[in-house]
Amino acid sequence: VTTGELTQTPQTTVRRAERASYDRELAHAILDEGLVAHVGFVVDERPFVIPMVYGRIDDTLYLHGAPGTRILRTLTGGEGRRAAPVCVTVTLLDALVLAKSQMHHSANYRSVVVLGAVRRVRGEEAERALTAIVDHALPGRSAQARPPDAGELRRTAVLALPIDEASVKVRTGGPVDDEADLALPVWAGIIPLTTVRGEQVEMVQAPEGFPA
Ligand SMILES: Cc1cc2nc3c(=O)[nH]c(=O)nc-3n(C[C@H](O)[C@H](O)[C@H](O)COP(=O)(O)OP(=O)(O)OC[C@H]3O[C@@H](n4cnc5c(N)ncnc54)[C@H](O)[C@@H]3O)c2cc1C
Repeated sequence: VTTGELTQTPQTTVRRAERASYDRELAHAILDEGLVAHVGFVVDERPFVIPMVYGRIDDTLYLHGAPGTRILRTLTGGEGRRAAPVCVTVTLLDALVLAKSQMHHSANYRSVVVLGAVRRVRGEEAERALTAIVDHALPGRSAQARPPDAGELRRTAVLALPIDEASVKVRTGGPVDDEADLALPVWAGIIPLTTVRGEQVEMVQAPEGFPA
């Protein structure tokens, strides 16, 4: 893993700098805690943003999917296309911030934006990436479930994106009202938000072809 600063480019320079960071470890921690990445790309001048799961190994973020979907066709270059630039965003929403004035309502959050171009990976790297994606959802799960076979690997495209041209933004703390509003009789504070794993619910699966 590379430590220290991410690569700051004009595209990843945050304008409200007090909330910005280019710290790699912080970016990795946010990516590891998040579960859904919003993956943005442009096809024929139209933007698309698609939710996807992902995994991380060191400085690389991995995505996967069926090779026929628009996102996979676009990002891997597909038939006659160049590999497309991509923007991957992961957001952790930590709290609603309620101020005395409507304009100062806000949110506490930690988010990462990664820019770059993906490369398609195959073979051993693809297998390690798929394991990382499974373990990202539930650590240790790959040791319990059957690994993908040759056919499943053939039918799955795995994409790698370097976590390098990237930025982090973090907001913490309470509302920041204008002084003139501080005496208003309005409740102000934060409402913390967390993602909670529920109790496991075992599901019995019928064998294929079993009458419903
Ligand atoms: C939490 C989460 C995780 C996911 N993880 C993955 C993943 O790791 N890999 C993967 O391949 N897919 C994943 N998906 C599904 C993914 O979002 C797309 O639906 C899928 O990749 C593309 O499907 P498609 O070929 O039918 O659509 P595309 O050909 O990509 O899109 C056709 C149209 O379908 C609509 N569409 C596509 N996806 C969505 C959506 N999610 N919600 C609403 N409308 C949509 C849009 O209008 C789009 O223009 C995930 C979805 C969710 C919600």
